Amino acid sequence: MVRTRFAPSPTGYLHIGGLRTAIFNYLFAKANDGEFVLRIEDTDKERSKDEYTQAILEALNWCGLKYDEICYQSKRNDIYEQYLDELFKKGVAYRCYCSKERLETLKQEQLKRGENPHYDGHCRNLKEYPSDKPYVVRIKLPDEDIEFFDHLHGKLHFDYKQFDDFIIRRSDGSFMYNFTNVVDDIECGITHVIRGDDHLTNTAKQIVLYRLFEKTPPEYAHVPMILGEDRTRLSKRHGAKSVLEYRDIGILPVALVNYLLRLGFSYKDKEIFTFDEMVELFSLDRLNKSAAVFNPDKLLWVNAEHIKMSKPDELYEYLKPFLDKRCLDFDKDYIVRAIETRQTKAQTLVELADEIRFFCVEPDEYDKKGLKNYLKVKMEEPLKELLGELKKAEFKDEDELKAIFEKILNKYDTKMVKLAQPVRIALTGKTIGPGIYESLLILGKDESIKRIEKLFDAVYKKDS
Ligand code: GLU
Repeated sequence: MVRTRFAPSPTGYLHIGGLRTAIFNYLFAKANDGEFVLRIEDTDKERSKDEYTQAILEALNWCGLKYDEICYQSKRNDIYEQYLDELFKKGVAYRCYCSKERLETLKQEQLKRGENPHYDGHCRNLKEYPSDKPYVVRIKLPDEDIEFFDHLHGKLHFDYKQFDDFIIRRSDGSFMYNFTNVVDDIECGITHVIRGDDHLTNTAKQIVLYRLFEKTPPEYAHVPMILGEDRTRLSKRHGAKSVLEYRDIGILPVALVNYLLRLGFSYKDKEIFTFDEMVELFSLDRLNKSAAVFNPDKLLWVNAEHIKMSKPDELYEYLKPFLDKRCLDFDKDYIVRAIETRQTKAQTLVELADEIRFFCVEPDEYDKKGLKNYLKVKMEEPLKELLGELKKAEFKDEDELKAIFEKILNKYDTKMVKLAQPVRIALTGKTIGPGIYESLLILGKDESIKRIEKLFDAVYKKDS
């Protein structure tokens, strides 16, 4: 069975590069009826924080990336000890007592000779271990070239001389990333590893460890990094936010997942994917070989498309945290009707919440330019007549309201915008908003008349 994993180090908030890796691994597992494991790589005690772990869990949960298992490296020390023992028994690991000073001198000499700094195997064949001195544990690097197959890069070849007897355990007893990563992938039965191509050299070292453990490595797909507009590796500098910050600016989780999927995956020229389509269509051979550039405007576009596609009552659940508290006093059905009026126009949930706020809260100010352009002009008479007609109306459907507006339009030979905008400003405070008839109908007769009278009274009484 296919088993993938996402293995973040909780040393910071989950960023979108990390989330994209999680998405690829999740989708690959699900596309193959497999399992997706979350492994918190928290062996670095200084830098790992529980707060970051919690934020990772929250972000994955928000994105709907459900894991089938979770494990914490900090709780697996016994397993690492056992695996280390195995390497000692096989005679392929050794204690190294070299001091920092010796290693520094060695490095300087090698640099002088124009060589890449590497450990010279000084402690490889120690007959006896001094009991009281600190030591690190190194592996005996086999002198065979390292090869592995990658789904994006094809067959990769590394000259073993590029590497040395690398350290797998530090002098404080903690284990190094490459070691724990391999042990856990073996122990968890991981079959496929999808991760950033910044890990290629690590993979070569990990292949050495698989060889020493006499285990078959998983299959690999190393994906290109996400770049910023200037084509350097994406960072905060480019305006990239942490995953939960995207939630907080009103991005839908499915939109973020969709956008990040497309930054490294393509299927024909399809841009918008539902969650089910992502699972259905994901495959390693559709991963892109070249790096993609993060584009915040495109993310907003994808978000707008998903807002449009969403069922209004489902959108309501996502919108709730962004709604004015006063909107929460209204029935869900009422807010759902309001959502329907603006769902096709909003780029974010923040925008949508803002645009439908007027359905629940009377405007406390009016657009100044709007007042000047549409009310403080010679429209008093037709507008007052319109108000009079609306007062007599039943507010039963759009046709009824349309007929009223048309009657006044014809009588005064004026334009729709000149009638609709003053009413819109009265209802919403703004010059942009949902269609005028649907706004009137949803707000209802009493509330609409109240707002229109309030504005007309304020403008025309003052003037007369
Ligand atoms: N903890 C590593 C990281 O966050 C895991 C890399 C991996 O093996 O996927 O980069």
